[in-house]
Parts: sequence; structure tokens; C-alpha cells
Amino acid sequence: MCKHVLNAQVSIRAPCCKQWFDCAECHAETQDHRLAKTTEMAFACKKCKKAFRKDMVNYEESDEFCPHCDNHYVIDAKTPQAALGIEGEDARIDARLLKDDRIKQDPKRSLFGQDFSDRVG
Ligand SMILES: [Zn+2]
Ligand SMILES: [Zn+2]
Ligand SMILES: [Zn+2]
Repeated sequence: MCKHVLNAQVSIRAPCCKQWFDCAECHAETQDHRLAKTTEMAFACKKCKKAFRKDMVNYEESDEFCPHCDNHYVIDAKTPQAALGIEGEDARIDARLLKDDRIKQDPKRSLFGQDFSDRVG
């Protein structure tokens, strides 16, 4: 588990420096080079601790599961911000919160529905 993605299910091996990272940001913080891109990623499942490789070119839905323990490792990243209770999944909502202070001050307004406030704003 790293501080960027709280619910990371796998570690990823950086092809450039051959080290394991929980996410690309961990690599960026600890290394002074860019994360290299590769067509074949090496993963390590955090559940069963086994490593596996995936071809990123022909990546399919079934590839989102650990081949050893069927752990679904491709999930929405839970960031520290989201853990504080702010729903950050919908980019539209985020943008509106930043733009419109009224909605921020009165959370009940959002209960009327997103379409309504979209039309008014
Ligand atoms: Zn690297
Ligand atoms: Zn990280
Ligand atoms: Zn596994």
C-alpha cells in the first residue's frame, strides 16, 4: 500500500529501473528518471504475493484478474482525497464544486439532481 493509491491490489515493476512500485507516482517521487513505457508489464499480486506478466497491447477484461488467485486488481483507485469523503469519481461534479460555491455550501441542493443544477448554472 502506498500513500497515493490506498487500495492498490498489485505492485508494478518499472521496466526502466527494475524496481517494484505501487503506482507511477511512487516511481516519480523516488526516481529521477521518467517511468519507461512497455508493452509487457510485470505485476505482483498483493493478495497472493505472486508475480505475473500481462501483454498491455492485447489487454482484455479477463486480464484484470490475477491469474493465480483471481484477485480483481484493476479497480478504481482510492486516493487519499476520496478517503476523506469527497466523491472524486465524477469529474463533472468536481468541476462544479470548484465553480459554484452555492452548491458547496448547501449540500441539500445536490439532492435535486445533477441535471437540474446543470441547467440552472
Ligand atoms: Zn524507473
Ligand atoms: Zn504511490
Ligand atoms: Zn493473486
